[in-house]
Amino acid sequence: MTPDERHLKRINRYLIAINGVYDDLVREIALVVVRLKVGDKLFRFRDYGTITKEVSRALKNYNDNLLSSIKTYTQYEWDYGNAKVSELLIENLAKVKGKVSGTAYEAKLKEISTQSVNKSALEAFQQRKSGKFTVSERVWNITKQAKENLEFAIDDALREGMSAQDLARKIKGNLNNPDALFRRVRDKHGNLQLSKNAKAFHPGQGVYRSAHKNAMRLAANEINTAYRQAEQLRIQGNNDVVGQKINLSPQHKVYDICDELAGSYPKDFQWSSWHVLCKCFRTMILKSPTELITEINNGQNLSPESSSNFVSGVPDNFTSWLSENRESLEKIKSKPYFLEENKTQFTM
Ligand SMILES: [Zn+2]
Repeated sequence: MTPDERHLKRINRYLIAINGVYDDLVREIALVVVRLKVGDKLFRFRDYGTITKEVSRALKNYNDNLLSSIKTYTQYEWDYGNAKVSELLIENLAKVKGKVSGTAYEAKLKEISTQSVNKSALEAFQQRKSGKFTVSERVWNITKQAKENLEFAIDDALREGMSAQDLARKIKGNLNNPDALFRRVRDKHGNLQLSKNAKAFHPGQGVYRSAHKNAMRLAANEINTAYRQAEQLRIQGNNDVVGQKINLSPQHKVYDICDELAGSYPKDFQWSSWHVLCKCFRTMILKSPTELITEINNGQNLSPESSSNFVSGVPDNFTSWLSENRESLEKIKSKPYFLEENKTQFTM
């Protein structure tokens, strides 16, 4: 298994844990509401003063656990990305061992280990805004949406005499299919009653109706981006890396933007994915062994541009993709991050 395949497997493991955070929320809420006597009105937590404290506490726990899980796992994959790059650079250096002096070799090894990306860069990553919001703001929005999701699910599921376990199971079932849930609740109460609470069910573009799905997508994307960002900073900081290649995953089956944009890019082209949940991966383009040997033996640390492997611009397929999609790209308000962050690399 390649490090990138392992990275995807690791993300899946983290997502299972994050799934558990959501299960805990549903279980806690079911325990609280199961003892309520509910009327015919659309179910709202705020109509039941006796449970307000417990509901707020459960939601706060969910919010805090989701946020701290994302923090922990972004750190794991940040470190993992760092370790991967170090390992590959050391492997590459090993190819010229014996053809350069022992001291020069040791110095090069040391240089690789000191380039590991530091903690403050990770913290800056974790606190950054992507688009309009920080991760902590996004998690907060998900928690608010989860509250509304739960109200609909409880409205449909809660019957007198149920056990908390049965209720939790029914709530989960309901939330797994938010579209059908929404229709049932609307048929029961009519559009008017719903309109106040329907924000959760008419989320903006690119947002799921299910808070849980949004949480999973946010987590997967943050964790993957942390790995890519650590990799990116290392690539930029090492003169022996002279470009990057963005490759399709072997699992990639359906032709899409990833096929159209795969190729060799300049080393400072900012890349983490072509789209959310993209499985493409990056490999480093390095100086040739001959270049490396000559350089080390001359006691030099030449710039990437000196290499015959140096990638000086985006590939032709990127440029043609851009011109083919120019019109539709001009219409959308928030452009893909890889266009925003690489403005100097091409003309729009
Ligand atoms: Zn992709």
